[in-house]
Amino acid sequence: MAKEDFYELLGVTKSATAEELKKAYRKQAVKFHPDKNPGNKQAEEKFKKVSEAYDVLNDADKRAAYDQYGHAAFQNGGMGGGGGGGGGGHDPFDIFRDVFGQQGRGGGGGGGGIFDEMFGGGGGGGQGGGQDGADLRYDLEITLEEAARGAQKDISFRKNVSCERCDGSGAEPGSKPVTCPTCRGAGQIRRSGGIITFTQACPTCHGQGSTIDKPCTGCRGEGRMPKTTKLNVKIPAGVDTGSRLRSASNGEAGVGGGHTGDLYIVLSVKEHELFERHGDDLFCEIPIKFTLATLGGTIEVPTLFGKGSLKIPTGTQSGTTFRLREKGMPTLRGGRQGDQLVRVQVEVPKSLTDEQKELLEQFATISGDATEPTSKSFFDKAKKFF
Ligand SMILES: [Zn+2]
Ligand SMILES: [Zn+2]
Repeated sequence: MAKEDFYELLGVTKSATAEELKKAYRKQAVKFHPDKNPGNKQAEEKFKKVSEAYDVLNDADKRAAYDQYGHAAFQNGGMGGGGGGGGGGHDPFDIFRDVFGQQGRGGGGGGGGIFDEMFGGGGGGGQGGGQDGADLRYDLEITLEEAARGAQKDISFRKNVSCERCDGSGAEPGSKPVTCPTCRGAGQIRRSGGIITFTQACPTCHGQGSTIDKPCTGCRGEGRMPKTTKLNVKIPAGVDTGSRLRSASNGEAGVGGGHTGDLYIVLSVKEHELFERHGDDLFCEIPIKFTLATLGGTIEVPTLFGKGSLKIPTGTQSGTTFRLREKGMPTLRGGRQGDQLVRVQVEVPKSLTDEQKELLEQFATISGDATEPTSKSFFDKAKKFF
């Protein structure tokens, strides 16, 4: 099945800026978010695709590769995979900015929440036998306030955990896995076809090196079983839509001694009714009375961190933008906090009492507005058109 074009999925052109991409992604993510479409498989599928597209296009390197090679850039052997690595600090939730591999295999999951296996099945890959557990992805929506101040969230999801009854071995307690008679524990067998000898995974034990006489009754010999897992997620201040938190070893349990996968929490920040975010800056529009704009004064302004005050100078024009320093978003890595930009809209009264009207007419007369209804500077500029 051909994969859909990432740009088309997001509804943007190939020349879309990072900001446009983010906007488009947010729009789509909100629309198809599983929280908003409970039980709707199609929406969930779409949500995954849109997230995948954003994952790639949001990263300059991946985007360049995609532009050049299309989806082939991320097929096996391409630059996919990535992930994991490092290990780095000991904080179980370190910000993870890398982009995930592609093959988000459909199916899976079911169960509550928006939950998905990320890299295709854990691949098993050689070392020490066993099969590594898959990495998991959890999509979490938070408010702008939470993104600004940081938050703790309880999430719950189903994942395969190691079976307690058999301690992950798959063998009923009391019995033990026995060395595979076919491969004698090697997990592979050698075959010779004429002059060539090749090895292949042992068909009896599927590469495990051991077989189970009496399967564990708890997990039917699987060694792991689905379990609802609860987790408290610490969200650092300054995150944005597309930010990822990695929780090491909170993915699916491996089988037969394979490693446990990681959990990735992918954040999307809800649109705010007052503030628009531009990078680290927050932008809002505030209406003020025309008298205040004319005479000047101080107004109270809402910020994400409580009330702020803003001085409106005498003679402020509609559309003027003021800057409240360091009332914007904190940055993830410390450093200078963003600003809050406030654009004032001067409100002209829609109706007047007799007294107000009289006073304003007096004002107009004193100001000579009746004879000169446009300002002098404008009139000078416009003269040549008359
Ligand atoms: Zn078991
Ligand atoms: Zn075997």
